[in-house]
Amino acid sequence: MRRYGKNPDEDDIPVRPGRRGSRPRTQRRPAHEDAREGLVLTVDRGRVTCLVEDRTVTAMKARELGRKSVVVGDRVAVVGDLSGRKDTLARVVRVEERTSTLRRTADDDDPFERVVVANADQLAIVTALADPEPRPRLIDRCLVAAYDAGLEPLLILTKADLASPAPLLDTYAPLGVRHVVTSAEEFDEGGDATAAVAEVRELLEGRTTAFVGHSGVGKTTLVNALVPERQRATGVVNAVTGRGRHTTVSALALPLPDMPGWVIDTPGVRSFGLHHIDPSRVIHAFPDLEPGTAECPRACSHDEPDCALDAWVAAGHADPARLFSLRRLLATRERHEGD
Ligand code: GDP
Ligand code: ZN
Repeated sequence: MRRYGKNPDEDDIPVRPGRRGSRPRTQRRPAHEDAREGLVLTVDRGRVTCLVEDRTVTAMKARELGRKSVVVGDRVAVVGDLSGRKDTLARVVRVEERTSTLRRTADDDDPFERVVVANADQLAIVTALADPEPRPRLIDRCLVAAYDAGLEPLLILTKADLASPAPLLDTYAPLGVRHVVTSAEEFDEGGDATAAVAEVRELLEGRTTAFVGHSGVGKTTLVNALVPERQRATGVVNAVTGRGRHTTVSALALPLPDMPGWVIDTPGVRSFGLHHIDPSRVIHAFPDLEPGTAECPRACSHDEPDCALDAWVAAGHADPARLFSLRRLLATRERHEGD
């Protein structure tokens, strides 16, 4: 979603590969020439709610998409009734290439990876400092998922009125993750956005940020402060999907008021399965350590005795605290976060 100004009509119409590759241009397949670009705001029981120009349009996946998933944040091509009127149904005929895919498995024993959010470029990991107690394992797992997907993580520590952020900040300092600390007084009714909320807003400008967190951490409170129109937006979506008011079952994309950028609120998570994670993609987020893997054995997990990173760090090429943090993150793949 960062590609502002990119005209979807300039996209190449897909050519069927093979046999007659040298067909003249004019005979290219007219793949839904009347299609309009839509941004997927939410998906609920097969109903895809898209923003098409300034209208909220409900659509179904066209048969031709087969098993291809359509998820919040996707850029899609839609055809049919795009009036946005009640009881109309359009069709999603194409899903544009994703710039990123945030995935998770329901848990580690579940081999099916699900795309949670498409085209985000930032992952806001919301954690309460107390009530509920912070769960560093869950934070670590969200970080691994962010690094794997190429999203920049942002740690948001809430409820600082109940406990100090210092211990958690110490734990995460070697990772260099950006963080914001919020507390109850930020959310006083009718007050102007306070410093912490303003700080979060600044970090969201021009970006598409997926918000994840365990339920009860204050994610809804924060998202409502960032997007005051949320209640109305949720109402619109619910009117379309026919769902009740406060059920956050599906992820929902919300435009930031007064600035470019999107917030994608996701339902509270209890776990974040990492069945699909590839350690080499996680290492990309550690450019100081990555060169040290050159001497590693093939398919090194970077958490085994022959791993070359120990010698690399011992030789003074990188900070031992960084290697320690990397290993802690990689180890979360083998453990359940309750451990
Ligand atoms: P969600 O489940 O993550 O969406 O959490 P909610 O936003 O619904 O908040 C859960 C509870 O925490 C509510 O009772 C909020 O009023 C409360 N809460 C939210 N932010 C804060 C905070 O900064 N400090 C305190 N003490 N409570 C908060
Ligand atoms: Zn290694």
